[in-house]
Formats: sequence, structure tokens, C-alpha cells
Amino acid sequence: MSTFQAPKGTYDLLPPDSAKFLAVREAIAAPLRNSGYGYIETPGFENVELFARGVGESTDIVTKEMYAFETKGGTKLALRPEGTASVLRAALEANLHKAGNLPVKLWYSGSYYRYERPQKGRYRHFSQVGAEAIGAEDPALDAELIILADQAYRSLGLRNFRILLNSLGDKECRPVYRAALQEFLRGLDLDEDTLRRAEINPLRVLDDKRESVQKQLGDAPLLRDYLCDACKAYHEEVRELITAAGVSFEDDPKLVRGLDYYTRTTFEFVHDGLGSQSAVGGGGRYDGLSEMIGGPALPSVGWALGVDRTVLALEAEGIELELPAATSVFAVPLGEEARRLLFAKVTELRKVGIAADFSYGGKGLKGAMKNANRSGARYAIVAGERDLAEGVVQLKDMESGEQAAIGVNEIVAELEARLG
Ligand code: ATP
Ligand code: MG
Repeated sequence: MSTFQAPKGTYDLLPPDSAKFLAVREAIAAPLRNSGYGYIETPGFENVELFARGVGESTDIVTKEMYAFETKGGTKLALRPEGTASVLRAALEANLHKAGNLPVKLWYSGSYYRYERPQKGRYRHFSQVGAEAIGAEDPALDAELIILADQAYRSLGLRNFRILLNSLGDKECRPVYRAALQEFLRGLDLDEDTLRRAEINPLRVLDDKRESVQKQLGDAPLLRDYLCDACKAYHEEVRELITAAGVSFEDDPKLVRGLDYYTRTTFEFVHDGLGSQSAVGGGGRYDGLSEMIGGPALPSVGWALGVDRTVLALEAEGIELELPAATSVFAVPLGEEARRLLFAKVTELRKVGIAADFSYGGKGLKGAMKNANRSGARYAIVAGERDLAEGVVQLKDMESGEQAAIGVNEIVAELEARLG
């Protein structure tokens, strides 16, 4: 193993591509910031029980994918595999839900860790931007989140994604359905592992990706046919609100999600250019999670969008984001006096908000101009002894190649004017 190799299932974000990741995070965050969501950051690890209880003991995340470890002091921790349980834990710990202003609306952005089989779009370290609205049961809140995710993807220029929508029922109707599904699954030709899963969490068998399982599920009972009146009405209202907002979706009666804690509204964003790792984001309502981790009843809804897969989706659609140039002005000093002067000018330019960089290392004109070119800067300012003796610098437009002498004291004003 080489020392210079990132661990299996991970990769580094490097310039210039890393700018795309930042832009995607920013694009997902923008509609949230604009809709009353406050930023939250929680630790990269938590007590392992938070996930084991919150995410659900029978999920792949907990049984197979969690990076759990014991500290030197004997505490059992886990690298966070997802954001919802942590955000809810933090909100409860800080009593945000008691401030009398429900729902508590929070958004986050960060790294998540799952010990998965690495492949394109599936990594052991990946990034999500997520949103949670805690402590309110209102179909408009479910609709808001779906609309905001749609808006985020659209603002990036993405078009080939679909929204899959379903309702998972609640504690009244889901158990009835669960029993019916279990009864159905017991009659199928399934391997031992899957039969065991059918006993613990039968809904997850519907999510089995294997063809041998899927082809037996054609006649499986659907939750849709078991929803109680309250769940039915709630779901219908969510559907109407997002339809009225002009957001299209597909009803997917078999959509269940990897996490145990979802109730009622559940949805997934899939992109058609990503092969088998097609889910770019997902979420739903989790009315029972707070009580599951020891808190009061706090009906909530949220989503998490995968940044890595969103970037892959952009590539699949051939979308080039319009990213601002990293550097607008590049300074090339020739000689000691020019070095001091231009360094001071670069500092001044940066202070007024113009992205500027400098030729370091005492390079000659040719090498320094190569750096100026590579930086992508629109303008280079070049100064040698003779220029300074005349009180000027050479301002070169890197696009047209035009060059003009301008007074040392006019550099900042001139560039401000030219760069608009
Ligand atoms: P999948 O079915 O693909 O395993 P999931 O249901 O486990 O997805 P969630 O827990 O809902 O995924 O996470 C939300 C989003 O985070 C996913 O839609 C995906 O974009 C992203 N994501 C999840 N796991 C990974 C991973 N291992 N690598 C990269 N992105 C991931
Ligand atoms: Mg998964």
C-alpha cells in the first residue's frame, strides 16, 4: 500500500473539480436558507446507540455499514452514517423544541461514513446536505421540503431526475400492513437471510435490489391499500400541494427507504444517468424517531441529498456550472522594488474584493506569465524597474492581449472599473 493513497472507498476533492462540489453544496443550501432553515453542525461521531436505536437495528446501515469503535476510555462511538439522528439529538439536547417556535427548521452539510462496497457513486466517505423540520405535522411542511429539493436540483440545471413518492402509513395502519406483507413473504421462495429480514422488517424486503426477489413481489400487498383515513388524507394533501407548485412526481407504491424510522410521506430523488447508484437524495417523515431515542413526541420531516452523486448527475447531463474565475488579476513583479509594490497592490485589490494572485518565487518574465495564464486571470499587471521609474505598471488584458501603461496610483480604481 502506498503512503500516498487515500483509503479504499474514499477520494480527494481537488481543484479545479472541487469548486463544483462547493457550488453544489451552495446550490442545495440556498433555497433552505431562503426558507427559514438555520444552519446546524454536529460532531462527526456520536454514541453508537444513537444510530443503533434511531436508524433502526435491522437496517444495513447499522448491521453492516457502520464504522463503530471503542475509545481508549471504553466509550462506544460510531462515525456518523447519516444526519437525521444527530440533528434530532442536538435539537433535543439544546431544548430547541421548547423555545415555543415549532417547527424547528435546520439544515446541515457534511461528511458521512458507511462501510459499503465501493463503486461509482457509492463511497465509504461521502457528503450530504440535509434539512430537517422538527416538531410539526403539516402536509405543507412535507411539500415545502420536496419543492425546495426540486428547486435546488433545477437551479443546478439538472433535468433528468424524477421524484418518487409514497406514504408508509403510521403506527395505526402500518402494523396491519406489516402483518399482511409478512404473511405474503413467508409463502415465497427466499433465502434464509431474506426470510429473517422479513420477520424483523418486512418492508425492507420490498427494497431488495435482486431480480430473483423482485420477480416474486409482483402480487405483494401494497401499503397504499392499507392506509388509514388520516394517512390517506394527509398524503392526498401533500400530493396536491406539490402538484400546485408545478413539481412533478411519480407515485411509487413500493418505495420504502433504507432507514427504519420513516412514517407517512417518503420520497426519493432518482437520476436516470447514474446506473445502479441512481438515488441522488431521499427523505420523508419520521414521526416516531424522537420517542425512539428517548425524547418527547415530535413529528418531523426531512431529507438528505448526496453531493457526490449530484456532481455525477451534472456530469451525466453534460452540465458545466458557471463558476466565477478563481483569480481575476495576476501580478508579475520583475525585481525587488516591483515585488514590494505589487505585493502591496495585490493586498489592496483583495481588500476591495477583487480576486488577485501574485507570482511568487522570484520568477523571470516568461515563467511568471505562464503562471498568469494558468491562473485564468483576466488581467496581468507587470512591473519592472523602468516602469517604476516612470511611476507606471503595464496592465495586460489576457483575453485580447492588449497592453497599456497605467499610473501606480490608478491600479485599483482602473481594475475595479474594468472588472465591473
Ligand atoms: P442507496 O439505496 O443508494 O444505498 P440510501 O437509501 O442508503 O441510498 P440515504 O441514507 O437516503 O441513502 O442517503 C441520502 C443520499 O445520500 C442518497 O440518495 C445518496 O445520494 C447519498 N448516499 C448514500 N450513501 C452513499 C454512499 N455510500 N456514497 C455516496 N453517496 C451516498
Ligand atoms: Mg445505502
